[in-house]
Amino acid sequence: MTNSATTSLITGITGQDGSYLTERLLSQGHTVHGIVRRSSTTARGRIDHLYHDKNIYNQRLFLHYADLNDSTTIRRILVKTQPDHMYHLAGQSHVGTSFEIPETTSQFTAMGTLKILEILRDLEKQPRFLHISSSEIFGRPDQSPQDESTAMRPVTPYGVAKTFATQMVQLYRESFGLFACNAICYNHESPRRGESFVTRKIARAVAAIHAGHSDKLRLGTIDSRRDWGYAPEYVDAMHRMLCQDQPDDFIIATGRQHSVEDFLAFAFDSVGLNWKDHVEHDAKYVRPSEVSNLVGNPAKAEKQLGWTAQTQLPELAALMVKREIERIT
Ligand code: GDP
Repeated sequence: MTNSATTSLITGITGQDGSYLTERLLSQGHTVHGIVRRSSTTARGRIDHLYHDKNIYNQRLFLHYADLNDSTTIRRILVKTQPDHMYHLAGQSHVGTSFEIPETTSQFTAMGTLKILEILRDLEKQPRFLHISSSEIFGRPDQSPQDESTAMRPVTPYGVAKTFATQMVQLYRESFGLFACNAICYNHESPRRGESFVTRKIARAVAAIHAGHSDKLRLGTIDSRRDWGYAPEYVDAMHRMLCQDQPDDFIIATGRQHSVEDFLAFAFDSVGLNWKDHVEHDAKYVRPSEVSNLVGNPAKAEKQLGWTAQTQLPELAALMVKREIERIT
């Protein structure tokens, strides 16, 4: 299955990972079907270049409109497209927002995943299924770095919803024999990251300050530590997981940990500025509960998938800032 052309179905195709994954699959000769939320048709920006390419759109890339909670339509799309692989990337992915809208987060992230698993269970031709899980499932872990056997102890509504989805994937794999896998991804960033995530927010602010459009950046907790990788590399790991002989879960991470403060220093340094001159604390961005110390052990992915993260954080911060400067000039 590794080398032959496959048909993939992607939920969340308009997101950061969905757009990189689509580009990657298309460049390797695969066919891609994407599910787009009806209400988000205007948010197609990350795949617009593919949508407007007549050699690609409706040739090897197809879009279908459905809400994740609309089981009937999702089932119909699965029956119609008969995918070999299904990548489930959609969900409410912002941890901070999950405190504001815990019900919606659970509906999409937890129940949305279960609904897909239920549909797959009944299908005659079952695609290989990948759920994009998150390091948030570990919450405040008793082990560092975390690996595939670390206990899940979520501390945010998003983490709780992702834990439910991750465990359901494991349950359906073990109980119903589905080829279903969890990619337990640590934070992964890029110029396509949503604007409310801290790395993109910082990159945009540095570009604005560098251009003289602004002078201050307001942030919440900056001593939080994360394992930050580069998103285009993570979608490569996702594809490799579905090309394995057996379904399994993998930690996808760099294995290195940095603080928000480190990212600030790398981003401001890349244009010769000192972050301390521009950053102000704003309690509005402090969360009611927070994971503070996550770092993944990617040894299993390295050994079995032949995958390692390449881009280091200083380089990632600099490339994100550079892209934002290009956007405003
Ligand atoms: P997360 O790991 O999925 O929550 O990714 P985020 O990029 O949203 O947040 C990473 C860390 O940055 C968290 O510990 C946040 O509390 C912290 N942080 C500090 N200030 C901000 C801010 O203004 N916005 C966001 N999104 N995060 C912030």
